[in-house]
Amino acid sequence: MSAEQTIPILLYHKIGRPPRGARVRGQYVSPGLFRRHLAYLRDHGYQGISLLEVARQERDSPPLPVVITFDDGYRCLYEEAFPALVEFGFGGMVFVVAGSVGGTNTWEQAVGDAAEPMLEVGQIREMGERGVEFGSHTVGHPRLTSLSAGAARREIGESRKRMEELVGAPCRAFAYPYGDWDAGVRELVAEAGYEAACTTRRAAARRTDDPLALPRINIRRYNVTARFAYKLWRARRAGQ
Ligand SMILES: [Zn+2]
Repeated sequence: MSAEQTIPILLYHKIGRPPRGARVRGQYVSPGLFRRHLAYLRDHGYQGISLLEVARQERDSPPLPVVITFDDGYRCLYEEAFPALVEFGFGGMVFVVAGSVGGTNTWEQAVGDAAEPMLEVGQIREMGERGVEFGSHTVGHPRLTSLSAGAARREIGESRKRMEELVGAPCRAFAYPYGDWDAGVRELVAEAGYEAACTTRRAAARRTDDPLALPRINIRRYNVTARFAYKLWRARRAGQ
């Protein structure tokens, strides 16, 4: 396998239909479309790998690897994404806002967005037992670069502890809320012991990428299967 192999890390948010008052409708991928994405991946030979494999730059990846990630940890992931992942044989990495487990999306409601229920502890554990991995997305979903170093350190470190208690397994992966990070924030993520961290820079990952600043491919409501396939192709081609 080439050192230049590219690995698409897909970013989803919500699997469902946007409710009235949803401000970012593009973040809702319908359950039917999500299943068509998974069918496309399976039928074209993509194999799901763990984000940690990308971060560790392991050399035994399949020829067409893909990583499926979900930010925030909405309850619709349990109801809609999880059964589809199991059916199509893919794992996933869910970055959870640790302070919102069992609650609602308070950071989105604070800017006028529709209320969404978040995953509950039992759902997280059940998904974890069936191959879904969990990472941290901070405690409260702040813009980390706007916090003091002490406050950012607490968001990054405390959320890791909470996720480990919830899941009962090491929490090694992190996603920067809003894709907002800088060298100082990255250093805090390294200090907290994370091995992988995802940004929202749009590209397929390469083995030469900084494991604490991995790019992703943002998948949106309007990405019908043809558009989804084109995005994958374009991202992989750009990496060659
Ligand atoms: Zn987020």
